[in-house]
Amino acid sequence: MSLPVFEQGCFSATVLGGNDLGGVHHLRGYGEWDCGRAEPAWTGEVKVMSKRWLRTVGLLGGGVIGGGWAARFVLNGVDVRLHDPAPGAIEGVQQQLANARRAYRRLTRLALPPEGRLSVATSVADAVQGVELVQESAPERLDLKQQLLAAASRAAAPETLICSSTSGLRPSLLQVEMDRPERFLVAHPFNPVYMLPLVELCGGERTAPEALERAAEIYRGLGMHPLVVRKEVDGFIANRLQEAMWREALWLVHDNLATVQEVDDAIRYSFGLRRAIMGPFRIAGGGDGMRRFMQQWGPMLKWPWSKLTEVPELTDAFLDKLAQQADDRGEKLGSLEIEQNRDDCYVALLQGLRSQGYGAGETVALWEQGLREANFQIDDGCGPLRMPPAQMPSDWLDSNGHVNESRYLQLFSEATGTLERYVGIDSEYRSRCGAFYTVETHLFHLGELHAGDRAQVLTQVLGAQDKRLHVFHVLTREADQKPVAMSEQMLIHVDASSRRSAPVRGEVRERLLELAERHAKLPRPERVGASIRQR
Ligand code: NAD
Repeated sequence: MSLPVFEQGCFSATVLGGNDLGGVHHLRGYGEWDCGRAEPAWTGEVKVMSKRWLRTVGLLGGGVIGGGWAARFVLNGVDVRLHDPAPGAIEGVQQQLANARRAYRRLTRLALPPEGRLSVATSVADAVQGVELVQESAPERLDLKQQLLAAASRAAAPETLICSSTSGLRPSLLQVEMDRPERFLVAHPFNPVYMLPLVELCGGERTAPEALERAAEIYRGLGMHPLVVRKEVDGFIANRLQEAMWREALWLVHDNLATVQEVDDAIRYSFGLRRAIMGPFRIAGGGDGMRRFMQQWGPMLKWPWSKLTEVPELTDAFLDKLAQQADDRGEKLGSLEIEQNRDDCYVALLQGLRSQGYGAGETVALWEQGLREANFQIDDGCGPLRMPPAQMPSDWLDSNGHVNESRYLQLFSEATGTLERYVGIDSEYRSRCGAFYTVETHLFHLGELHAGDRAQVLTQVLGAQDKRLHVFHVLTREADQKPVAMSEQMLIHVDASSRRSAPVRGEVRERLLELAERHAKLPRPERVGASIRQR
C-alpha cells in the first residue's frame, strides 16, 4: 500500500495492514509538521472492533425482495452469494444496489463499512456453502420453497441459519423436508428491504428459540427492527393489517365510490402520516385514554362500514378498470424515477423520525450508533484523535457544487463534542461541574469536498490549562488523504452554577492533561495562531 503524499501538508494516517474484518490495523501518521519527511511523525496500532457477527450470506432468489436484501447486506459490509436462475437477475440486483447506495448516502452521513462482495452462485449448493445465513426469497409457492429450503439445508453447514422471506406461508409447512429444521424461521421484510426496518420473525413447530434470538441479533445489526411473531399464523402481523385495508381499497374502487388516485390520496394525506408515528393502539392518555377512545369509537365498529373478509371478484372488467385508472396517473412499472422518488421520501421520513428519536427513526439512530462503535476507536494512544469518518450528503452542497464552510464548522464542532465525551464530559458532569464554551474559531479552506466523499477529522489537543482548551482539527479526504480544511479553536470552561469561567474538575481534568501531554509530543501544526493573510 502506498503512503499518502501531501501538497499542502497536514496530519494524516494510512492503514498499512490488518483486514476489514477487524483485529489490529497498523497506522502510520504524517503531519503538516513533517511534509516530505521520509519518517512518519508516529506509528501505531489501532484495534478496530468490527462486525464479526456476519461475513457471508447466501441469497436464493434475486427479485424485488432478494435484490433488496442483497443491497442491505452488501452496504452493511456483508459478502453476498446470490443464486437466481433467471437470466438478467444480477442486473436487477445491481440496480437495487445502486438505488440503495444513493439512498444511504442521503440517509446517513456516517461512513458505511467497506462494501461486501456480491457474487453470482450457479447452484443452491454453491450459494449456501460456507455462509452464516441463507435468505430465501423465491416466488411465493409452497412446493418451490419447500424444495429449495430442503436443498439448502442439505448443502449448508449445520449451524447455518436459514430464513425465508415468505409473505405469509407458515414456517411449519416450509420446514417439513429440511435437515436440521430447528435453525429455520421466517424473516419477512418489507419492500424496499434496504429502506424499511421491520422484519417479522416467525418460527415453526420445529424451530429452536435460539434460532429466533440469533436471527434478531443479525437483523438488528443490519439496521432493522426485528419483531418476533408470538404464534405461528398465516400472514403474520403486518400483512394481516395491510390486507384488511387493501380489501377495503379494492371495494371502494369496485363500487365506484372512489378512484385509485382518490383512495391513495385519502391515505397519504391523513392516517398514512399518522401510522408512521402511532399504530391503532398508541393513543394519548394511557389506560384511561384507551377506555374513552373505545367508548367513543368502538360502537361504530359494528356499523357496516367495511367489508372485512369479502374480496371483490377479480374479473377482467375490474382489473381493466384498475389498470386504466393507474395508467391515467402516468406511472411506469419499475421506473427508476419513481423508485428514487419513493426512496427520497422514505429518507425524509426516516430522518424526521430520527430527529425525534421515534419509531423507525430510532432504529436508524441505533444503526448509526452501531456503525460508529463497530468501526471506530478514536484514540490509538500516540497520534491525534481520529473521529469517525463521515460521508458528504448531497444536500450539504452549495451553489458551487461543493460542501460549504458551515458544514466544515459543523464537522469540527462535532469533533470537539466527541473529544469532550472522550475525556468524560457527560450530561452529569455538565449539570454538576460545567462545560466548555467555544470563544474563538479559525477556519482554513484548503480543498473541496463533493457529495459522496468520505472525510475524517483528526484532532490534536494543543493545550489544556486550568480553564482553557486549545485544539486543532484537520479534515482530510479519505480518497487521497489530502486536507480539505483545518480549524483552530479556543474553548473556555464555564461553571454550571455561576456561569463564569472556572477550572476543569476531577477526572475530566486529569484525562485532558494526560491527552495534552501526549499530544504535545506531536509536531505543532504550522498554521497555529495564524491570522488572515494579505496576499
Ligand atoms: P420476485 O418475483 O420479484 O422474485 C423472485 C425471484 O426468485 C425471481 O428473480 C426468480 O427468478 C427467482 N427464482 C425463481 N425460482 C428460483 C429458484 N429455484 N431458485 C432461486 N431463485 C428462484 O418476487 P419477490 O417480490 O421478490 O418475492 C419473493 C418472496 O418474498 C416471496 O416469498 C414473497 O412473498 C416475499 N415478499 C415479497 C414482498 C414484496 O413486496 N414483493 C414483501 C415481502 C416478502
